[in-house]
Amino acid sequence: MQISTTANPTPVDDARLAEILANPGFGTHFTDHMLTVEWTPEKGWYDARITPYGPLTLDPATAVLHYAQETFEGMKAYRHADGSVWTFRPDQNAARMVRSSQRLAFPELPIDDFVACVDALVEADQRWVPANEGDGGEKSLYLRPFMFASETFLGVRPAQHVTFMVIASPAGAYFKGGIKPVNLWLSESFTRAGRGGMGAAKTGGNYASSLAAQREAIEMGCDQVVFLDDQEFRYIEELGGMNLFFVHRDGRVVTPETGTILEGITRASILELAGKLGHAVEERKVSIDEWRDGVASGDITEVFACGTAAVVTPVGELRSPSGVTPAPTSTDLTMRLRESLVGMQLGRADDTFGWMHRV
Ligand code: PMP
Repeated sequence: MQISTTANPTPVDDARLAEILANPGFGTHFTDHMLTVEWTPEKGWYDARITPYGPLTLDPATAVLHYAQETFEGMKAYRHADGSVWTFRPDQNAARMVRSSQRLAFPELPIDDFVACVDALVEADQRWVPANEGDGGEKSLYLRPFMFASETFLGVRPAQHVTFMVIASPAGAYFKGGIKPVNLWLSESFTRAGRGGMGAAKTGGNYASSLAAQREAIEMGCDQVVFLDDQEFRYIEELGGMNLFFVHRDGRVVTPETGTILEGITRASILELAGKLGHAVEERKVSIDEWRDGVASGDITEVFACGTAAVVTPVGELRSPSGVTPAPTSTDLTMRLRESLVGMQLGRADDTFGWMHRV
């Protein structure tokens, strides 16, 4: 894929950039450029270009505004101590976007093109990738590839014009002032996905449908929602934006099976990493009773959540309308897995799996 570049004539100045990178927060500052590629059935993917970051002009009849044909990805670029910039398993994000595209009747962006587009934007905006030396932090440049139905048409059909874009936003450490367990709210009235639905696709609608439950969680003093299956409200699926893991006393590491959940890249990496550390790993149905009883009996010693944003985080209390399940007793494996992954991502530990990709 040929990508043309129009440099931003007014990039943010050094002083302002230093100020932003000192305290980037999340999702509020955007880099100097954005990348755009178009698709039609006749032309395939065409006109890949990097242009100054700025607003889009959309016809009010643009399909995505009406029928939510949109998929996206979330990933990060990390700066290592020697100044080099890396992403973590970008081919896996590319492959997941292909799977999301299949579910939404979108064209598939080839994996190599996806990676080339992300690399090109990170290269154009590399001064926006925060350094981590000295402050011991876990800052990164968050990358948001996304695709939407950009045709002007009010009929419901697979889009005849699709636009793929990549934007980037510097991100601070998820946890300020140390890792702290997340408290979870068990939704007993809302589900996130159903059989044959879009749960495994990374599409905006899944997040829109999670917000009523998320609001409930916040009202109950919790950080995120645990969603159960839509058939029996019995089996654990995932959180609004993270996958879940259970560590048993005998060392088994268990996570809900795929199908209706988002297949996290952190989740897949933890399954491999835990296996390599000698743990038996299981992907299967996990009931809410297994969680409650396991913590009560001491059979479950750790519960953790994982995803690109927080990497790995201990789970604290599980609150629900029918009572509170306390935090499990240990966080040993949780913290070990976290340190391994963060170490690889920030270049402080060996990349034994070959997961890091140099931009
Ligand atoms: N589940 C959901 C619903 C998510 O939004 C995310 C974040 N992308 C995850 C799980 C974790 O996925 P990943 O490890 O690829 O970030």
